[in-house]
Amino acid sequence: MSTASKIEWTETTWNPVTGCDRISSGCDRCYALTLAKRLKAMGSQKYQADGDPRTSGPGFAVTVHEDAVREPLRWRRPRVVFVNSMSDLFHARVPDVFIASVFAVMAATPQHTYQVLTKRPRRMRALLASDAFCSRVGAAAGALGVGTAAGRIPLNSRPSELPRTRRGRRGRGEYKTAAPQAV
Ligand code: SF4
Repeated sequence: MSTASKIEWTETTWNPVTGCDRISSGCDRCYALTLAKRLKAMGSQKYQADGDPRTSGPGFAVTVHEDAVREPLRWRRPRVVFVNSMSDLFHARVPDVFIASVFAVMAATPQHTYQVLTKRPRRMRALLASDAFCSRVGAAAGALGVGTAAGRIPLNSRPSELPRTRRGRRGRGEYKTAAPQAV
């Protein structure tokens, strides 16, 4: 499920992945880690797997949620969507093919504006510059049944051509973004 967000710079959160591991001092006050512990205690289904106590915590193991990938396809009204408010899409344990599915859904829903933040910009850059990843986005679109229907994801298209997507790095409470439509 998506949730209306209280974060001032977004409208909706979409979490096809939950959980993460601290990677830098910028993670010291990770709100998601704290919130996952509470959600686990409340019995929330997506937050029952525990992460490494040295870098993660209760309810915060990196977990992909196949059943959440399609959610934006059902939202007709345009929304600003914070992708993975409870994780980092480019965590090493999130498979390339799953990230490709997330990008395929973003490409198939140009009515929304997506915000993708990461503390792992190297992987983000490497994937977005990769022909193999672009092919995976096309394949994922086909598997999801959105590629041909939407007609927006030619097989050799680059994620940089995705409409209305912003990327950024998580910093100390700040939101840095590239220009819209410039991922
Ligand atoms: S990368 Fe983000 S989600 Fe992951 S631990 Fe750090 S602040 Fe939390």
